[in-house]
Amino acid sequence: MFKGRKRRVAAAAQKAGVDALLITHAPDVRYLTGFTGSNAAVLVRGARADLFTDGRYTTQAAQEVEGASITIADHPVAFAACESAVAAGAKRCGFDSAQMTVRAAESLRASLPAAVRKRFLVATPGLLAGLREIKDEVEQDQMRAAAALGCRLFDQLLEHIVPSATEMEVAMALEFMARLEGAERMSFETIVAGGERSALPHGRATLAKIPRRGFVVLDFGVVLDGYCSDMTRTVHMGAARKGEREVYEAVLDAQEAALSKVRAGVAAEAVDQAARDVFEAAGLEEAFTHSTGHGVGLEIHEGPKLGRKQTQTLKAGMVVTIEPGVYLPGRFGIRIEDTVLVTKSGYENLTPTTKAWLEL
Ligand code: ZN
Ligand code: ZN
Repeated sequence: MFKGRKRRVAAAAQKAGVDALLITHAPDVRYLTGFTGSNAAVLVRGARADLFTDGRYTTQAAQEVEGASITIADHPVAFAACESAVAAGAKRCGFDSAQMTVRAAESLRASLPAAVRKRFLVATPGLLAGLREIKDEVEQDQMRAAAALGCRLFDQLLEHIVPSATEMEVAMALEFMARLEGAERMSFETIVAGGERSALPHGRATLAKIPRRGFVVLDFGVVLDGYCSDMTRTVHMGAARKGEREVYEAVLDAQEAALSKVRAGVAAEAVDQAARDVFEAAGLEEAFTHSTGHGVGLEIHEGPKLGRKQTQTLKAGMVVTIEPGVYLPGRFGIRIEDTVLVTKSGYENLTPTTKAWLEL
């Protein structure tokens, strides 16, 4: 699998007009070599990949890295990678200006021999990020496994969502179970937002109590084998107040309308618009304050974005979330999110947990 990824990276580098490519963003390094350490650079030249890390990772690199040579560097890894590129006769080396700070790029440039300093480094922003949008079969299986764990955890969590508990206790129960099941960590800070707090699109768990009556938004993800899951369900404590079920149904309709658009070849903005159309018909368009979804993989937020003016077309193998929501400040909020794998004819829902109205 690393062979195929290396081949695609080399082709993209050639297309970008560089004869070497420096990779320093940790998820990109992991994608290309399997290495999970915190400090590494990979230099790709044609079919060749060389990984540079430091002495803390001698054993770990030997265990994890596939398809790349390993050099333990005694100075900054990006400097070492560029030195080897210069020594090998590379003329132009791409680097990810979307990831590297201006300061890091400047000191990297300053480390180069004067003769090549001016023209050697070439900004190739997001080259790996673009390739990573389309998941290969190994990744698709990893994403399925992470999402399935998220679903199992949600089912187990339901009994912990009780009015005597705080949001924090619910989040803790989830995260404790996740670690027991082998999650490396959570994909992001767990969102448990009850009552009026459910109207905060990013209501991280607090010491507030789960309400006796009202909505609770649960948005969470686990990282399994490096890959992130992401799902949201909104449950209701006690009986619905007037109008609450109607808004819930509108969110569900919007989510299903967006899902029904998902397939290879469709513009990302068309998926977003499908959700907006439903909200507009229900008079809720102003209450939907974010975009419909995002790509997910080794990172929780990747391309493509599914929002307004996103003309990029979906491709088979992309994994994206579909997560419309409605937020009524001072009252309540509702969001429903699935993670789906885009296919030629539609999608595979990786988070098939029920979305029916749930009264606890
Ligand atoms: Zn989410
Ligand atoms: Zn999300």
